[in-house]
Amino acid sequence: MPTQIPTPMKQLAAAALALSMLPPVAAAEAELHISRSGSRTLNTAPAQNFTGRVQVEMLHTPDGPERTSAGTVSFSPGARTAWHTHPLGQTLIVTSGVGRVQRWGGAIEEIRAGDVVHIPPGVKHWHGAAPGSAMTHIAITEARDGKAVDWLEQVADAQYGALPPTAAAAPAQPSQAQRLLGDVAPKLAQLTDDVLFGDVWARPGLSPRDRSLVTVSALIAMNRPDQLRSHMSLARDNGVSKDELVETLTHLAFYAGWPNAVTAAGVAREVFANKP
Ligand code: MN
Repeated sequence: MPTQIPTPMKQLAAAALALSMLPPVAAAEAELHISRSGSRTLNTAPAQNFTGRVQVEMLHTPDGPERTSAGTVSFSPGARTAWHTHPLGQTLIVTSGVGRVQRWGGAIEEIRAGDVVHIPPGVKHWHGAAPGSAMTHIAITEARDGKAVDWLEQVADAQYGALPPTAAAAPAQPSQAQRLLGDVAPKLAQLTDDVLFGDVWARPGLSPRDRSLVTVSALIAMNRPDQLRSHMSLARDNGVSKDELVETLTHLAFYAGWPNAVTAAGVAREVFANKP
């Protein structure tokens, strides 16, 4: 079959047809943007809108016609936002720790790693860490007319409930170490309170959640059910979920031994009954 050589007119028509089938040029030229882990800056949240130490790492700042921002917000224990509203609402994804959220007129709700909070447009609210735990969440917020938040008054200590005046004036409760061994080994109780929990556990190098996870793992590996009981309970307070604790003991059956994992499962049942 002889090859037909197209005329210039036919070539033009073919080119026009091919062009009409292509997507718009601008869309084809847009590049993906990947901001690498560790490359983004941490900023301290402004004191006029926050109480306590709060760090913000912007994950995405809207560009051009975009309206949605995303940021990671890390609250130290006791830190929180001021009261505020979002014109088009906000979604919070808790990634570690234990925190609190409250809408105006509603109860204070506890939030933990894995929880997702949606705040409807215009609802006055605050969010932050629990008094005894740090909390980190990712916040996804859509702006209207370039504005994503309307700030209001600070959350007073009495509203936050961290240290209501009556609790602060009440005599301090004996620590768990004092109750367990204060009578027989007072120095060990004092070292446990001041050095272990007052210094080592308070160091920022590991989050309380991660410290709980490694401590629970070590106690399972050593088959120490008495200490495991209180540390599984503390791990729940520090944001380790029940599913994560069960996954931990299942995983450790292969490294620490099946009997250790079975003992740990029995301890977990007791702890979950008291701290679901
Ligand atoms: Mn908010």
